[in-house]
Amino acid sequence: MASGSKQSILKRIGLIAVGIVVVGALIFTFSQDARQAVQNEALNKMGDAAVQRMKDSGAAEGGVAADFINIPIEAREISDGLYQATGVANAQLIATDAGHILFDTGLVTQAPKQLKALQAAIPDLDLTHIIVSHSHADHSGGVKVWKKEDTKIIAHQEFEEEQRYLTELQSYFWNRNRTLFPFMPEQPPTIELLAYGGVEPTSTVANGAPYKFTQGGVDIELFALPGAEGADNLVLWLPQKKILLSGDFFGPIFPQFPNIFTMRGEKIRKPVEYIASLEQIIALQPEMIVPSHKNPITGKEKIMIGLIKMRDATRFVHDATVKGMNEGKTVEQLMMEIKLPPELVLTQQHGRVSWAVKSIWEYYATWFHFDKTTELYPVAASAVYADIVDVAGAAPLVKKAKDHLIKKQPVHALHLVDIVLGKDGADKTALRVRKDALQLLLTDAENDLQNSYEIYWLTYRLRDTEEKLAR
Ligand SMILES: [Zn+2]
Repeated sequence: MASGSKQSILKRIGLIAVGIVVVGALIFTFSQDARQAVQNEALNKMGDAAVQRMKDSGAAEGGVAADFINIPIEAREISDGLYQATGVANAQLIATDAGHILFDTGLVTQAPKQLKALQAAIPDLDLTHIIVSHSHADHSGGVKVWKKEDTKIIAHQEFEEEQRYLTELQSYFWNRNRTLFPFMPEQPPTIELLAYGGVEPTSTVANGAPYKFTQGGVDIELFALPGAEGADNLVLWLPQKKILLSGDFFGPIFPQFPNIFTMRGEKIRKPVEYIASLEQIIALQPEMIVPSHKNPITGKEKIMIGLIKMRDATRFVHDATVKGMNEGKTVEQLMMEIKLPPELVLTQQHGRVSWAVKSIWEYYATWFHFDKTTELYPVAASAVYADIVDVAGAAPLVKKAKDHLIKKQPVHALHLVDIVLGKDGADKTALRVRKDALQLLLTDAENDLQNSYEIYWLTYRLRDTEEKLAR
């Protein structure tokens, strides 16, 4: 949700506290089972309220968010002994004669309903292990609901580090997410049950060292595959069935250009690690992929074609960026030039090639692009915007911006109006040009790549500009 895009909200929407704090306080006065029941009821109410809030805001009617929030919570058996509880994020259950293994736990606010749905299908549900695919809240959030005292929890070796920084920077990330997804509440939840984090693995899996065990005759192999939705991705392989439980390794669409960069924030993802992780999956030759978002993907041939395309597209963008850097090209040149060749074209609704180029650049070369001295000092270009307006005049600058708009150069226009608005943030003529430039970008985004994050961002800026114009 992580993710992405869309996902990330989805990662958090469930965490919406809607005035149920009182119930939280009551919980501690009950016995363990009664407490669990009250707690789950409270979570259900919060989950329902979160969905309602999304629907009221109109967010559930379009875009990828809708794809997730409208998914009903129900249990299904997708292969013999392999169950899935659907929802914003799915929870998978492997049934064996020697106890049950859960892979991913859903949002904390959906987990009680997912648990109930699975209990209806498997009356003797008894979890020996919970395996979490990574630290994002839509995958690890439900641990508190599913876990019993002796349940083993397995995660990637980097899980705790990822959980640490996502917790420490929660306010920062929360504000970014709220900007993109305005229906989120102002503050992250503080009551312990809803709050992000606090998952403590009992065992971890390191990169290059698969964790294998057999339970009730079912072979389980866990592979640490970093580079996708963070450094702590874990996938579960069922070698007897050739089924891969992929968590969020592929993102919400398969196949797609991967989300090496995510606008909501989070560390830059490592492209070469991601390619190496894809290689490992290709070597397994899966016949079915069961992601923790949306539906399973079946058909070995289709899966292999998708996997190879994702690997080759990521490698292509990586290598082209490196080549351009060595040739002394600027990051903007490369963002403009690098395009997937026709045989590697993949949807960019989630990950986006030009943003991957910039991320790969900065991953290798840091934020200092080795051209402007000013980059080394804490004085932004905007510090002299007022000087430019004083010399050039606001009206001629706005006129130039309009000329760029006529030439269909909205980004040039935005640069110029930013200068004017840097001196007077309420300048209506400049705000109107900004609005037109954003509208042009948004129309292009909707007609071209349909990248969710680009659309969310432009929608936010347009809304903000319209509010300023209305003052
Ligand atoms: Zn997710």
